[in-house]
Amino acid sequence: MEPQFLLPDVEDPDAAEFWAGCARGELLVQTCANCGLRRMPPRPMCPRCRSLKFRWDEMSGRGTIWSFIVPHPPLLPAYQELAPYNVIIVELDEDPALRMVGNLVASRDGPINEIDPATIRIGEPVRAVFQRVEDVVLPRWMKT
Ligand SMILES: [Zn+2]
Repeated sequence: MEPQFLLPDVEDPDAAEFWAGCARGELLVQTCANCGLRRMPPRPMCPRCRSLKFRWDEMSGRGTIWSFIVPHPPLLPAYQELAPYNVIIVELDEDPALRMVGNLVASRDGPINEIDPATIRIGEPVRAVFQRVEDVVLPRWMKT
């Protein structure tokens, strides 16, 4: 059996719309329809006003590297073959409180170990790209 990547459940009721957006090349974020607070990751209730009403807003896909790590073995088999690679945390331009975990890639369809981790800098601007991995389309990030 091929090594398996850990992939999200795209049918999760709270997050399905987010993953459907990724499949269309759109980075969607939940926005509270009552108080306007944006939230990530998706969840049913606004953490500020407790409203259950929300909408999905498309973000620009632009952000900044807030932090990153470089995983090394021992890792799960699918990831062990790719190490060392990077995992970055991006804060979105629309609201720095919106942070997403992903990988920095050098090209739209590039692998997650394509970038020399020594060249990654906190504060660098990035933009979202969308990569299909098995049956899921994941947001990943490229330097701008
Ligand atoms: Zn709210």
